[in-house]
Amino acid sequence: MTETQNKDAAKKDTLTIRIFLGLILGFGIGVLMFYLNHHLPDTTFSRFNDTYLINGVFHVVGKIFVNLLKLMIVPLVLVSLVCGVIASGESKSLGRLGTKTFLLYLLTTAIAITLAIIVASVVDPGAGISLDTNYEHFKLAERPPLVQVLIDIFPSNPFSAMAEGNMLQVIVFAILVGIALNNTGESGKRIGAIFEDMNIIVMKLVELIMRLAPYGVFFLVAKVFAEQGLDILKGLSAYMFCVVFALFLHLCGTYMGILTLVAKLNPMIFMKKMRAALIFAFSTASSAATMPVTLGIVEKKLGVKNSIASFTIPLGTTINMDGTAIMQGVATVFIAGAYGIDLTVSQFVIVITTATLASIGTAAVPSAGMITLAMVLGQVGLPAEAIGLILGVDRILDMIRTAVNVTGDAVVTCTVARSEGEFDKTIFDDPDVEVQSA
Ligand code: ASP
Repeated sequence: MTETQNKDAAKKDTLTIRIFLGLILGFGIGVLMFYLNHHLPDTTFSRFNDTYLINGVFHVVGKIFVNLLKLMIVPLVLVSLVCGVIASGESKSLGRLGTKTFLLYLLTTAIAITLAIIVASVVDPGAGISLDTNYEHFKLAERPPLVQVLIDIFPSNPFSAMAEGNMLQVIVFAILVGIALNNTGESGKRIGAIFEDMNIIVMKLVELIMRLAPYGVFFLVAKVFAEQGLDILKGLSAYMFCVVFALFLHLCGTYMGILTLVAKLNPMIFMKKMRAALIFAFSTASSAATMPVTLGIVEKKLGVKNSIASFTIPLGTTINMDGTAIMQGVATVFIAGAYGIDLTVSQFVIVITTATLASIGTAAVPSAGMITLAMVLGQVGLPAEAIGLILGVDRILDMIRTAVNVTGDAVVTCTVARSEGEFDKTIFDDPDVEVQSA
């Protein structure tokens, strides 16, 4: 390594460390503020904290940071995916790539929810809970019929798809543009080169935004814990334990198993390089906001070629939510238990199927899994209002499950890339490899 490369690697390393420090400090300051405010209620001190810090600086800076991350989603998906299609060349390999990725995403989600149901059935977190009927009323969003969902994947107006941030529609548009560019000779080459230049610029923008990450993470995490403290962890502890335990099993068993046995990659190296994405997912509770970071790490640090990652990461962000499926599985068993209802085997099968589909339809934003949970509960005759029971603890679980959602996208991406021969193992194995976003 040259001296400049050494300096670069050191600089990137400090950024990862500073992001981590932001997380720890945010957690510490948040918890401290929560207890100070509760011990000194209705004082000038607590009012100042509430108004100017928690709902002032913390809220504003955290929101600005998440907005900046979201700002990158549409340009990144569009530009990077067009470049990916250009690089992959023929549409036949795209079809194979799509099928393989989709099936792997579905399979990991089905395993996730099955694990969740097993853990929850053994622990039975709902036993001994007496339901209070005065739950906060939870509105069930109206869901469009399946045919409409299918039709809506295809955009009728690319600009409104981008303006609305409809990721599936942007993916379809980008693939079509990429295929057209591949088939238009010289003109295609000229415009393709422009897309490649734009890709470099968008990646640079992501890198610039990442410099704010330590502060963004600090303010986001401090706000959550200043509002919720640690008391929240005491109530519903059995439910929370089941969710976290099933998430842990899925991470260590399913993901690490796939990486080791199928992709033949070292899971320790993988997890180490994924650190920054996990911290982002945890602090923002949104796999969409984390997507620019995930894509950067997968390509630059893990060694996946852009032709694969530019497709699998945005797709995974949109449809692959194993962590969410796990929460939904545990929540269904928990709520059924709290109502004193024993679910039958066929109801478990319904839960597995609907939660797998529900996680596809869950938006990659905070708390979205709660909305689709209503659909899962409805399928087995449980009232959507019961969601009120677990809403209070959902933010913290959301932060953890989002980290699992993001890990799942990266695991499938590496596995597919390995099987397609679009993977650079030397980048994966190199601990000092240049990373633009973390
Ligand atoms: N927050 C999750 C995500 O963005 C979705 C959810 O489970 O609510 O991945």
